[in-house]
Amino acid sequence: MNNDIEISVRSPAAYALAQEALRLMQEHGVWPTPLNYELWLYVAGDPECALAQEIQRLVKAGEQITEDVSESLAAKFIARLKLNDEVRDAGLKLTRELASITEIIADARQTQKHYSETLEGAQKTMSAVDADTLRGLVRNLAEATVQVLNHHVELEGRLTESSREVNRLRKHLDQVRMEAMTDALTNLANRKSFDEALDNHCETLDASKPLTLAVIDIDHFKRFNDTWGHQTGDQVLRYVASVLARIGRPPRMAARYGGEEFGLLFPGESSGAVERILNEARQEIASRVLKRRSTNEDLGTVTISAGIAERDFGEDAFDLLDRADKALYQSKNNGRNRVTVASLSSMRGSSAA
Ligand code: GH3
Ligand code: MG
Ligand code: MG
Repeated sequence: MNNDIEISVRSPAAYALAQEALRLMQEHGVWPTPLNYELWLYVAGDPECALAQEIQRLVKAGEQITEDVSESLAAKFIARLKLNDEVRDAGLKLTRELASITEIIADARQTQKHYSETLEGAQKTMSAVDADTLRGLVRNLAEATVQVLNHHVELEGRLTESSREVNRLRKHLDQVRMEAMTDALTNLANRKSFDEALDNHCETLDASKPLTLAVIDIDHFKRFNDTWGHQTGDQVLRYVASVLARIGRPPRMAARYGGEEFGLLFPGESSGAVERILNEARQEIASRVLKRRSTNEDLGTVTISAGIAERDFGEDAFDLLDRADKALYQSKNNGRNRVTVASLSSMRGSSAA
């Protein structure tokens, strides 16, 4: 969803759009709260947008658009746009604007310089005819021109400074945005950014290309924590995350989904390929004898279980994640330390240690 709506609500069609939003709210029995109004403006503005399609789906399924439903729709379809992308876009636009103004001023300065040189030349020519009054007049004009030129130089300096400041601000915003999308303990992407990426892939990826999702969970991690302490547990989380980060380099994506669970996204890759990759990672983790950093004490090994699902034709993120979760559950039930690939009708188990 883009923010063309910001332009539409300031265009000649703005009031017709607002009326359509109100009409749609009334038709669907939705209160015209500020939040609903914004949601339905998007729907009225682009009846084909992802938000509109989701609302259609809910309505078809006989669901009421309650305030809770509206809240979650807004969180999913509007909030990130507002908090992150819009701020960043504003910064970018401002920088572009300032750069073009600086260019204009530099041009103007060049023109003025040229003008000043012309006047100086004229003054020299006129000195030959000794016309005092005329020469004085030209001298005054030349001085005035120099003043304008100086003024422009100062203005250009100020604009360059502002442009630098806006650039600094944009970098800072990018940093804040990055932190908001990153898990602090493992430095992997966090759940929010993973969910966004998954949604985006499901919405935009060419349906003929595969998209495979894997969910990974550390086995008996509670027991590990209870035995060795939470801090050592954190180190193990970082270790497992580092193995997954290596696998999940772009265009793939690795994220900490929460607690001791991770998600991996493999755009363009089939479940068979992902199964091989994850089995290698699983074996690598299971074969490593962990040591406590401070004392070099032997901590034994940890294992991981995984569930893999390849996106079925037209499947949405929710269903894909659900199938991967179920496959993970199968891995756990079948003894852990294994990878299970979900198929639509049945599950195919593979390879324990
Ligand atoms: P299973 O094999 O069925 O997944 O068993 P489990 O013990 O791993 O699963 P359970 O859900 O019972 O426990 C998860 C544990 O993960 C609980 C908690 O101690 C640990 N955990 C979750 N988040 C963190 C964290 O940030 N740091 C540490 N050290 N431990 C965490
Ligand atoms: Mg676990
Ligand atoms: Mg778990």
